[in-house]
Amino acid sequence: MDIAVDSYGETRATELALFKASIEETIEWLSLFGADASGGVTRLLYDASWQEAQSTLAQRMLQLGLEVTFDEVGNLHGILKGSHSHTGAIVTGSHIDTVVHGGKFDGTYGIAAGMIAIQHLWKQYGRPKRDLHIISFCEEEGSRFPLAYWGSGYITGRYSLAQVPEAHDLMGISLLEAMTAAGFGAGTNSPKLVPEGIHAFIELHIEQGAVLEQEKQAIGLVQGIVGQKRLTFEVGGIANHAGTTPMTMRSDALAGVAEMIQEVEHRAKAYGPPLVATVGSLEIKPNLTNVIAGHVTFTLDARHANSSELAVFCEALITGFDEIALKRNLALSYKEWMDAAAVMLDSGLTQQVEVICQRNKLPYRQMFSGAGHDAQLMQSICPSTMIFVPSRAGISHSSEEYTSSEELAVGILVLKDLLYELAYHEH
Ligand SMILES: [Zn+2]
Repeated sequence: MDIAVDSYGETRATELALFKASIEETIEWLSLFGADASGGVTRLLYDASWQEAQSTLAQRMLQLGLEVTFDEVGNLHGILKGSHSHTGAIVTGSHIDTVVHGGKFDGTYGIAAGMIAIQHLWKQYGRPKRDLHIISFCEEEGSRFPLAYWGSGYITGRYSLAQVPEAHDLMGISLLEAMTAAGFGAGTNSPKLVPEGIHAFIELHIEQGAVLEQEKQAIGLVQGIVGQKRLTFEVGGIANHAGTTPMTMRSDALAGVAEMIQEVEHRAKAYGPPLVATVGSLEIKPNLTNVIAGHVTFTLDARHANSSELAVFCEALITGFDEIALKRNLALSYKEWMDAAAVMLDSGLTQQVEVICQRNKLPYRQMFSGAGHDAQLMQSICPSTMIFVPSRAGISHSSEEYTSSEELAVGILVLKDLLYELAYHEH
């Protein structure tokens, strides 16, 4: 019995060493495309470095022996055909577009890891039963165009080529123009991935938060992706002389907003996790040292794993704002301009990942993703899950983004085990 455990451990150690070397090489190689002076990476949808990265990735997928295609919008697909193809594919993937001066790991890790896992599965076990399918989604961040999830949105039917959303980049170039210039668009004669053809979707990603690192966990099992509300509040007072207006005779919009911000923090802390609420932007008028603020605009970003709890929290908060405004003789109005529902990922898949962690004696925890991902769109057409690995100090969307190769390798091991169970065992 002991021998069996030992030999199992040794095999895994060898495997981890191989994953570690491969992931280091692949991440560094991909970070050359769009490398910028900040030490980070800038690859925006359909720009030259993005195109170069997608097409060299395609070549690597070909070298691995995958069938490689681009679809009409530019998602890159690599497929290892299974012996029971008709039973639906096991799809993994992420994105290689970045924010401006982004990090090397966000998105890229999921694609690099998927390729490494599939390569090892093929070497070790040969042809799977189900197709193993990897996708490099053509856009996730929404950093060039004010539109996120264009690639997964196309696959899941949220967006269509018949109605390309009206979105323009900072240069005034439309999404349609940029897509056409990169050689994609309607009629490029590529096969479309149909939802019925997908059995499950798995996205491996860095956490982009500091929870796993602080709790010394190797793996985050992502139960769902939080719902988000974003609102803008307008608070009107009376701009007046800072010297001649007695303290009892003021309608100070900024002092009122200061109290409202305190209220946000106080209520959010009292509500408890996973609720988070942030006032991140303030605009003060006239914004002068010697004038009482007459008008303040501020934003609220509130997130929770449960959409109805999020709604209850925001309603109560606004009632609190109303009371502050009334007490201080201020006018209050607001506009909600974003209300994205929370998405629960597939609990069956989460449990499967949990068993894999237990079997490999990996410390893990369940968690919600506070950021949006392609997986939330994929969940609308097939059972989907996400696996997180730690992010150093929780830093992301920055050249400081970092996860050690050891931690990345552990994520690949879990992904490989899950792909094995789904593609080789079940049918
Ligand atoms: Zn990402």
